[in-house]
Amino acid sequence: MAGSFRSLVKRSLCPILEGVTMLPNFSTIQVERIVEEVKAKLDEGRNTINQIVSSQEPASWESVVLPLEQFDVAFSNFWSPISHLWSVMNTPELTEAFQNALPLISDFQTEVGQNRGLFKNMQSIKDSREFAAFSCQQKSVVENSLRDFYLSGIGLPEKERQLFKSLSSQLAKQQAQFEQNLLESGNAWQKHITDKALLKGIPESSIQMFEAAARQKGLEGWLITLDFPFYLPVMKYADNRALRRECYRAYSTRASEYCLDPEKWDNSSLIQSIVGLRHRLANLLSFPQYTHMSLYTKMADSPEQVFSFLNQLADVGKKAADKEMDQLKRFIREKAPHTDCQPWDVTYYSEKLKQELYQFSSEELRPFFPLNSVLNGLFKVAEKLFNITISEKKVENAWHEDVLFYEIHNESGQLQGQFYMDLFARPKKREGAWMDTCRERFVPPCKGKDSAICPAQLPVAFLVCNFPPPVGETPSLLTHDDVLTLFHEFGHGLHHMLSQIDYPSVSGINGVPWDAVELPSQFLENWCWQEEALALFARHYQSKKPLPSDLFHKMKQAKNFQAGMQLVRQLEFALFDFETHHHYRENTELDVMGILNSVRERVSVVDYPEWNRFPHSFNHVFGGGYAAGYYSYKWAEVLSADAFSLFLEKGVFHRETGISFKKNILEKGGSEPAMDLFVAFRGRKPQTEALLKDCGLL
Ligand SMILES: [Zn+2]
Repeated sequence: MAGSFRSLVKRSLCPILEGVTMLPNFSTIQVERIVEEVKAKLDEGRNTINQIVSSQEPASWESVVLPLEQFDVAFSNFWSPISHLWSVMNTPELTEAFQNALPLISDFQTEVGQNRGLFKNMQSIKDSREFAAFSCQQKSVVENSLRDFYLSGIGLPEKERQLFKSLSSQLAKQQAQFEQNLLESGNAWQKHITDKALLKGIPESSIQMFEAAARQKGLEGWLITLDFPFYLPVMKYADNRALRRECYRAYSTRASEYCLDPEKWDNSSLIQSIVGLRHRLANLLSFPQYTHMSLYTKMADSPEQVFSFLNQLADVGKKAADKEMDQLKRFIREKAPHTDCQPWDVTYYSEKLKQELYQFSSEELRPFFPLNSVLNGLFKVAEKLFNITISEKKVENAWHEDVLFYEIHNESGQLQGQFYMDLFARPKKREGAWMDTCRERFVPPCKGKDSAICPAQLPVAFLVCNFPPPVGETPSLLTHDDVLTLFHEFGHGLHHMLSQIDYPSVSGINGVPWDAVELPSQFLENWCWQEEALALFARHYQSKKPLPSDLFHKMKQAKNFQAGMQLVRQLEFALFDFETHHHYRENTELDVMGILNSVRERVSVVDYPEWNRFPHSFNHVFGGGYAAGYYSYKWAEVLSADAFSLFLEKGVFHRETGISFKKNILEKGGSEPAMDLFVAFRGRKPQTEALLKDCGLL
């Protein structure tokens, strides 16, 4: 009841919500004016901020936060179509404009993050008497902003503040250098092959790729590089063991003292100083270790919690992985001309064993997943679960003729959000799949005369994939992995579009902690593994026959093949990352390989050679982003499996449970602590059992 009253009030105050949120017009983007316009918009932002900090009035939500949110919305409305266009319809001119604009934007963000006046204003709002009466979402906006100010070192005394700034910029440079060394050291290595017999076992499509690479460099024959699409088929399929070993050695010693030019690219000392700098930054902000600082913005609340989480998974994973390794070793003794199992044998013989057990190729599934029926199935699943309606609509001024456009309405027929879909691979489009924001939900309270120019808008998303386009009469046919990708990105999309939070900085995926943001996306993937859901859309595109049950079961078994080994491999990375950052002591040299070896002794089942230098290429962690955060991959998997297990208890399409997920997770964005939202949905804190069961490990 309260909900419908609230939306009724909003509706009468914001007439624009009745119509359609203004969509961008891609045909009018003038590339040559982009940089100029970015500058002008950012200057507007500077004016807004100057007005706020120079005002004599006491700081309030209306005088400080609202104008900032308004500016963010206006800027994002202007910028998101440009950055989107750059990803999907790239031209050299656009790239140039885009790259010239990016530093302007990041400088502006740094400037705002270092603005003491703004920080003081925000602090006095938090300290004001009015704060207690703020709504949850308003409180989160203010608290997140203060948290980010705090993490930028702005509250420190001047001397320490300067030190913090200089250490941060050193860290950024060293992380970039780590990545650069890795890239250059990897690029420098190549293996030129003139005898095709050496490539025996590798699929023809990969061999053609090797040939093209050779031709590009003016060489005869074939060229193997350390790029993953080259490296993987060698490790997986090359019958020649010496070739596999050679590639493995080159790959696992990149940017180390064993690489081609260690003088130039050895990352050993960078690892030491990067971890050291992070530690000093954490200490300046009074965190005992960098792990505490990393968790300050995440769902997990203490290093102890993360360790116990990882160790709990390791207990189960290691036992299963040991058994799987025994099975693999038996298989090798039976099939191979040698009896030992080296790291360069693991992928190769695992693939052979998998084929023998399941005789199953992902290509067999394609005819059962024509794109149109998968899309219909995806929408049906979402409609059934969340009581919404998804309908296609014609859209003007999109960026390509293949683009589709849809609207989402709620059960009372009110528009909730809209989305573009751009699904086919084509030249000048970035690889991969993603969800991005086109318009953020922004529904500020409108008062009196302002209602006529109320800037309210509903969320709009971009959903982008790179599926094979239809050829002649044959529709676009997806692999099961493609289907998972589509469901995954749509999960992010629903998080963005079903949001009921009115302020963009905590609406949709904004303000959601890193280790919780993959919950809705991985959650939705679960329906691709349910026969009941597949029955809605998996049909042969010619015979219209449903997916045969035995094929479905093979597919499920293949998914869990060596699940224990897959799990402990991820745990090895996560534990190494977390322990390295947690046990660092100032003025003591970090024994990087010692930490890794002790982790491997506990969780790994592969016998690594002494010269393996995995840390030197662990770019996720030493190049940036995932420092003391690699665990979050598994964390999010646990959340999504545990959330889904409630549907296994109640029914795969249990409406009430679906609505509860919508109300407690999808609608709330980052407006409340992620753990509280999870508990509100699940009735308790997350547990690891569901994930382990799903992988067949329990
Ligand atoms: Zn994702």
